[in-house]
Amino acid sequence: MQSTVWINCGGSSKRKCKCSKKNMPKPHGWSLHWKKIKRKKKFPKYCSFYVKKPGDKKFTKCINEAELGAHIRRKYKSLNNNQYIVPACKSCNNSKKWSFKLKNNVKKARAVTTYCKK
Ligand SMILES: [Zn+2]
Ligand SMILES: [Zn+2]
Repeated sequence: MQSTVWINCGGSSKRKCKCSKKNMPKPHGWSLHWKKIKRKKKFPKYCSFYVKKPGDKKFTKCINEAELGAHIRRKYKSLNNNQYIVPACKSCNNSKKWSFKLKNNVKKARAVTTYCKK
């Protein structure tokens, strides 16, 4: 487990990614963004996160399948406030109140449209 704590910033509803095609639902667009930037044909099988829900004492590994590209940013904004996309399951992607840590092998893609690939 990596040490940085992240939160879901749920930017996918507001931001548009140029990787996505016109008629795609937006979360799908951001997963495409991740795949293009990371040069992967498909998502890894599992969600990227360890999860700590309100009331939990520690982080627990999420073993759901990765389906969407979740927007995350650092919980404690000391260094920067960059947003990234990581592969996530539906429940992690919908949870604004949970804290997350990334599994060791997780690759993040910057969630800015200047990184979009045609
Ligand atoms: Zn998950
Ligand atoms: Zn993109």
